[in-house]
Amino acid sequence: MKFFSTRSPEGPLLTFGEAIFQGLAPDGGLYVPQGDLDLKEAFLSLHHGTSFKEAAMVMAKGILSEELSPEQIEALVDKAFPFAPKLVEVEKGLFVLELFHGPSCAFKDFGASFLATSMETFLQGKDKKAIILTATSGDTGSAVAQAFYGKKNIDVVILYPSGRVSPLQEKQLTTLGGNVHALEVQGSFDDCQKMVKDAFTDQELMAKLPLTSANSINLGRLLPQSFYYIWAFAQLKENLVDDLVFCVPSGNFGNLTAGIYAWKWGLPVDTFIAATNANDVVPEYLLSGEYTPRPSVGTYSNAMDVGSPSNFERMMSIFKESWDMTKSLILGQKITDQETIETMKTVKENQGYLLCPHTAVGYLAAQRYLEQHQEENEKVVVLATAHPGKFVEVVQQATGESPQLPPALANLLKKEKQAKLIDNNLQELREYLQANF
Ligand SMILES: *Cc1c(COP(=O)(O)O)cnc(C)c1O
Repeated sequence: MKFFSTRSPEGPLLTFGEAIFQGLAPDGGLYVPQGDLDLKEAFLSLHHGTSFKEAAMVMAKGILSEELSPEQIEALVDKAFPFAPKLVEVEKGLFVLELFHGPSCAFKDFGASFLATSMETFLQGKDKKAIILTATSGDTGSAVAQAFYGKKNIDVVILYPSGRVSPLQEKQLTTLGGNVHALEVQGSFDDCQKMVKDAFTDQELMAKLPLTSANSINLGRLLPQSFYYIWAFAQLKENLVDDLVFCVPSGNFGNLTAGIYAWKWGLPVDTFIAATNANDVVPEYLLSGEYTPRPSVGTYSNAMDVGSPSNFERMMSIFKESWDMTKSLILGQKITDQETIETMKTVKENQGYLLCPHTAVGYLAAQRYLEQHQEENEKVVVLATAHPGKFVEVVQQATGESPQLPPALANLLKKEKQAKLIDNNLQELREYLQANF
């Protein structure tokens, strides 16, 4: 399988191994697969006894078989996923796909870990190194840090705004050590992002150091997010009357776009529900045909506060800019903060199940869908994007209870912070990089 930029359909074509080290294409577009895989038979042969790794292998082989041997692909999948999703039926017909059992307790672990392991695999025996440079406002950086920790021939440099991430987030970024280097920047998240951007356009620096990015638009993070849709289907397939419905709490729409690839390559899916908070430019597009990006607004589900979703460009490339095609598969649903809190409260009271605020957005959207399709025996799978224990204040406010911090995170609080404090300009970053690599 080869890949091209959304902005240059005529090429050049890249391999997966090339595209993942580029991140964004030089023309500013996003890499997308060329042509389709036909995996329908393989998907239909899976069953409830299929492990997550087995489900992942089906898709990974389809994507990588021109570049790696079956044994290498197997080793990659095996190494990338020491954790797996769980599927829980919380109420009749409504299943929660828990994607928070990885090291940072959020679904981004799946994409980050596959990318990191892929990079390590492609660097092997090549006498090449990579330095991952990334800015974080808190949460996403921790999945990247965990995923790259201990990877051979790779260093990670993470910039975060001093005093503007939560104590737990700071521990997640700064306590790993080894090949993970945290830079505490005296400035805002925007300053951190600007410094990273400036470094990537600094030709002298780029000529000297093998700098690369690992942000969420990277193909190597996007595609593995399709693996758990396939696994969830395998779990439920023997009891399905109709095709499955997936409900995805969305911000940049990477998670949802990955599901669309699984569908495009043969997974039987009836509908994807795109659940958003007040940042609802995609549900608006689905209703009106007008796409109007705008500045984001803050909500309780803040990992979804995105006013201009980066993966919209990939979705448009899949559906060939056709509004009709897009809305025939995807249904939009906007959920307010008030509704989010109420859902967390009622689901805890009635089902005894604790939701994080992001998952709650998806949960209510799924409940609404099921209400409208009562006689049809439909099954909806809601993607649970993070562990509720990561959002103590909102969970407390909604349910009156303090959630337990997952043990993996609780242990971090005892560890020592290691970070280098720097000023918010490129010169400081350049000096740091040149002195250390
Ligand atoms: C990143 C994130 C989302 C949004 O996912 P996208 O792929 O950007 O749509 C939802 N919930 C949580 C907890 C996240 O970290």
